[in-house]
Amino acid sequence: MFKPKRVIFEKGSLETEIGKNIYDRLKNEQDIEIIKISSNQVKGKIPGDTLFEQYRHGKETLVVGIKKSLKFQTCKPSANYQLPLVSGCMGRCEYCYLNTQLGDKPFVRVFANVDDVLNQAKKYIDDRLPAITIFEGAATSDPIPVEPYTNVLKKTIEFFGKEEKGRFRFVTKYNDVDSLLDIDHNNHTEIRFSINTPRVIDTYEHYTASSDKRIEAAAKVARAGYQIGFIIAPVFLYENWEFEYRELIKSIKDRLPKDFDDTKIIFEVISHRYTTKAKNRILEIFPETSLPMNDDYRSFKYGQFGYGKYVYTKEELSYMKEFFQSEIKNIFPNSIVKYII
Ligand code: SF4
Repeated sequence: MFKPKRVIFEKGSLETEIGKNIYDRLKNEQDIEIIKISSNQVKGKIPGDTLFEQYRHGKETLVVGIKKSLKFQTCKPSANYQLPLVSGCMGRCEYCYLNTQLGDKPFVRVFANVDDVLNQAKKYIDDRLPAITIFEGAATSDPIPVEPYTNVLKKTIEFFGKEEKGRFRFVTKYNDVDSLLDIDHNNHTEIRFSINTPRVIDTYEHYTASSDKRIEAAAKVARAGYQIGFIIAPVFLYENWEFEYRELIKSIKDRLPKDFDDTKIIFEVISHRYTTKAKNRILEIFPETSLPMNDDYRSFKYGQFGYGKYVYTKEELSYMKEFFQSEIKNIFPNSIVKYII
């Protein structure tokens, strides 16, 4: 669960139920600074002169705001729209793609007017009838660590449970799922867990839940009847990686209920890649990083908009793909392997 050092309430947020709840819960905490602002001054309230400092202070800041623009972004290919519930994340994963997306102060923002957001989702669903409309809840965030303060995921899952043609999905690296277990999701929500070997998590994924805790949370939501998925990412090809990734897949098997129907698991596997822009930013925020980002050992893959990525070589990738395809199918014969890239 997220323990912020400062909470900034934007104009109007304290008049909402979520805003009031967060305020009542945190106002007497000794080491949390409470700030109320009337206009768009969030960045000015977060200290830090360098990117290194701004990143750390930003990650300790919770902003409670109101979502004003209710035009949802599209979210292809995995969903139709992004569902704007939360932006940002308390985690400090060295390779996080949000490092280049969220500006110099990557604070966590929760939108307190969740009813407006869900009403808007309803309009998008109705517009596309009779087709099913899928919403992604983690396109620019990890919504789980703030859930104990807001209950917005609970409310959202219940909302989609009642929508015949609406579906919801999100991904997390955390384990605060208890409030989601006993609710009426009606199989309309898919919860994915982003996992990695303990070595990768301990080295690069600071302030996230351990591999064990994520798998334990996945087992809980599986028992509660949710569709579950695992994103094994980013895969690093370090010495002995095959053994450790195999152990990881086996540990998922060991922790899921014995009678678990493995047709209900979806796997996605993504190898490590980086852009030059991301690399430069990572080196400023984590100057001591040991992330493998030596361009000489990678292939350069041209991207859509003129920027390209450094990926593992063709031979390495084809070996990695075969490895995961066969290991996953050995251990979970009926699971769906959506892609390995
Ligand atoms: Fe980024 Fe996810 Fe890590 Fe948060 S948990 S820092 S969103 S990779």
